[in-house]
Amino acid sequence: CGIIGYCGHRPAVPVIVEGLKRLEYRGYDSAGVAFLQGKDLITVRAEGKLVNLETKLAAQNVYLATSGVGHTRWATHGLPIEKNAHPHCDASRSIALVHNGIIENYQDLKKELAAAGVRFASETDTEVLAQLVGHYYKEKGSLAEAISKALSRVEGAYAIVVVSRDNPGMLYAARKQSPLVMGVGVGENFLASDIPAFLPYTREVVFLDDGEMARIDAGSWQVLDVATLAPVKKEVQHISWDV
Ligand code: GLU
Repeated sequence: CGIIGYCGHRPAVPVIVEGLKRLEYRGYDSAGVAFLQGKDLITVRAEGKLVNLETKLAAQNVYLATSGVGHTRWATHGLPIEKNAHPHCDASRSIALVHNGIIENYQDLKKELAAAGVRFASETDTEVLAQLVGHYYKEKGSLAEAISKALSRVEGAYAIVVVSRDNPGMLYAARKQSPLVMGVGVGENFLASDIPAFLPYTREVVFLDDGEMARIDAGSWQVLDVATLAPVKKEVQHISWDV
C-alpha cells in the first residue's frame, strides 16, 4: 500500500520509517523494512501499527545502513500477519522486494517455481514475484535483467522496489498501473508510492510511467525501458505544494 526506498548519506532506516508514517493516511495492516547489514540482507516486519515495527527495530543496530526499503501493507492475498508482511525475500535471501498491487497469475507462477524446488514462506502473491526475480537472478547474474524477465511473466498491477545483497547502496524499481515516483536529492535519492514520503528531503521528482524501470544509488539515477533495458529520457519536475 505504501512504499519508500532510500539511497543516500543518512541512516536509511529512520528515513524510511518516517516516510512510512507520512504514508499512514493510506491505511495498512502491517509494515516492514529491508536493509543490508554487512553481507546480510535483513528484514524486520511487524503486524499492526508502525509503532510495533519501531519497537522491533529498537532492538537492532539499524544506524549503519544508508540504503533500504520499507512498506505498509494492505493485505489482498494472505492474512495480515507477520510472515505475509513485506519485504519478501527469495529463497537464497539475495533479494528483498516490496510491492503494491496484485499479481493476478501468482498461482500458476507459484506452481512452476514449486516444481523447480522453491519453498515458499508466505501466502502472498508478492512472495511469488520475489522468488521469480531471485530465480532469474541466479540464472542471469544481472539484477536488471532478472527483474525485466520476471515482470515479463507477470499479469496484474504493481509498483515494486528491490534491494539486493550483491548491489549494496542501489535500488531497482518498476511500475505498471500502480503509482511510483522518484525523489531526486543531493547525494541521496528516493523511490516512493507517493510524494509526501520524501517531501521533507527533496522537491525534485521524476514521475515513472507504466513499463519503466528505475535504478537509483546515492549519487545517480536512471530510468530504463523494462522490456529492453534501453535508457528512457525523463524530466525532473519541481513540486511547489506542501502537505
Ligand atoms: N497483494 C500484495 C499483498 O497482499 C500487496 C498489497 C498492498 O498493495 O499492500 O501482500
